[in-house]
Amino acid sequence: MKTPFTTKEKLEEIAAQYPTPFHIYDEKGIRENAKKVKDAFAWNKGFREYFAVKATPNPFLLQILKEYDCGTDCSSLTELQLSNACGFAGDEIMFSSNDTPDEEFVKAAELGAIINLDDITHIDDVKRVLGQLPKTMSCRYNPGGVYEISNGIMDNPGDAKYGMTHEQLLEAYSRMKEEGVTRFGLHAFLVSNTVTNDYYPALAKTLFELAVEIKEKTGVSLDFINLSGGVGIPYQPDQKANDISVIGEGVHKVFDEVLVPAGLENVSIYTEMGRFMMGPYGALVTRAIHEKKTYKDYIGVDACAANLMRPAMYGAYHHITVMGKENEACDHTYDVTGSLCENNDKFAIDRKLPKIDMGDLIYIHDTGAHGSAMGYNYNGRLWCSEILLKEDGSYELIRRAQEPKDYFATLDCFPIWEKLQKEF
Ligand SMILES: *Cc1c(COP(=O)(O)O)cnc(C)c1O
Repeated sequence: MKTPFTTKEKLEEIAAQYPTPFHIYDEKGIRENAKKVKDAFAWNKGFREYFAVKATPNPFLLQILKEYDCGTDCSSLTELQLSNACGFAGDEIMFSSNDTPDEEFVKAAELGAIINLDDITHIDDVKRVLGQLPKTMSCRYNPGGVYEISNGIMDNPGDAKYGMTHEQLLEAYSRMKEEGVTRFGLHAFLVSNTVTNDYYPALAKTLFELAVEIKEKTGVSLDFINLSGGVGIPYQPDQKANDISVIGEGVHKVFDEVLVPAGLENVSIYTEMGRFMMGPYGALVTRAIHEKKTYKDYIGVDACAANLMRPAMYGAYHHITVMGKENEACDHTYDVTGSLCENNDKFAIDRKLPKIDMGDLIYIHDTGAHGSAMGYNYNGRLWCSEILLKEDGSYELIRRAQEPKDYFATLDCFPIWEKLQKEF
């Protein structure tokens, strides 16, 4: 059973000031979880979680995570700029990009961020662009094939565009050592949204054994190993949430088994979780505005896929609660749709829900990561606001809704601009 982190009364109070749709975030949940993550890896001296900015690029939320010693994981110029503006600097920023433009290496170096190379050719790119390699460098690994743990096949890294092969990786460390790099890291992101406590420990084993091999074959002793993202959340009501303390202990055990005997006991463990840090602590709140009965029953809401793309893009399941009807029987079957002229603009298909009346608040769960962030403007639909629900029940606007003037802003150098301005 999934329950909203707030009440219908509170959401109506907020909606009276900031009209639906909006994404709402639960400060209490974010803080409690961030503390658990920190505690779970406290056994490792150098541990740091680099929050994946792409999941929820909101400065208010980044600054909450900063209080728990999180850094940021960036992969674009604007994510670097946002991190910098939020007070993250130097080692607190990981730059894990791929297909990277030169100017982004320049910005990352200017901020002192750790550069994590996705490809061996980037060694030359970074050298050309910066004149020399920074003293600290990291490499992203892709083992190829399929990635299997005890619960079976998890994903297919061999088809993924990221990372270097085993051979390239060894060559990269040797070359970087020759070029004067003194501090080295290893990174891999092999499976997304894993709802099991076994993924990180299994990945850690793969990477720790590789670290030992790197030491033997190249003489490079790694300083940090970055387990990246991929720790998932239970989007479905029957899934069991991961326990980060069990995950942390699982990694600890492999650390003691593999790294310590190899003389690598000073390796720092890094993570780059996005979804796990923020996903369950956000929801998209929208209102039922239209019911349509044709070959199916449709409930049209005032949000659309431009506010939450995951169902349209991946067929992802997001649980829905009709606020105030939590205890009513789910005896109606609806497609819950947005207004885009795209038939995949559906938050739910054939979903069993209580009878929905026009004006009901529809609470779409688990939009705290990869939710608002994936917003777009197709059909001229605008980004909605983001609101932070604080621990004392008060709330704060942390991103205003886009307005037509924002949508049209990039036309400000064209002759039609004057006429457009009259429209807003
Ligand atoms: C997306 C991404 C993450 C975060 O992934 P989650 O599944 O949200 O934990 C971390 N690191 C990199 C490089 C990413 O691209």
